Amino acid sequence: MAILTPENNYGEAARDMGSPAYDPKKHDPFFDGLSNQLADKGFITAASDDLVTWARTGSLMWMTFGLACCAVEMMQASMPRYDVERFGFAPRASPRQSDVMIVAGTLTNKMAPALRKVYDQMPNPRYVISMGSCANGGGYYHYSYAVVRGCDRIVPVDVYVPGCPPTAEALVYGILQLQKKIRREGNIQR
Ligand code: SF4
Repeated sequence: MAILTPENNYGEAARDMGSPAYDPKKHDPFFDGLSNQLADKGFITAASDDLVTWARTGSLMWMTFGLACCAVEMMQASMPRYDVERFGFAPRASPRQSDVMIVAGTLTNKMAPALRKVYDQMPNPRYVISMGSCANGGGYYHYSYAVVRGCDRIVPVDVYVPGCPPTAEALVYGILQLQKKIRREGNIQR
């Protein structure tokens, strides 16, 4: 990992070492274009679909819904080390103000109605991330009489994160995939 200092001219040394880094002298052409358009006309135009999608991807409040051991990794993902708030992904302990449910752990038959109830309380558009083998398909307990063989039998799942348990990094990657999916769909209705 390159260390950025005035002596090594910040980004240049890092780029020479093969790692991408912030270079204060290098401008992003996209933002240059925006800035020029704004300076020239005093306003910028954008499609309302794009604006809605941008706002939607940047303000995903997630329901804290831990069912078993995977929940510990979910908690880890919400710690400052990963700083998921920088993606606009912040925890919200109420389904009525949440956009994303992370199903983290083993879903039992007994818990399934409660899971569905929480999902039904979430406003549209709502998304579900299935975290770990148990939520994805029953996992170790696939043949148990008490376990649901995949939370997608109870709620529609947008992103599956594999692993037992998936690492916090894997969950962060899943969150980015969800944002990508929302951008790709890119419409106001869902
Ligand atoms: S996938 Fe593994 S870590 Fe996650 S809840 Fe199931 S047994 Fe626990």
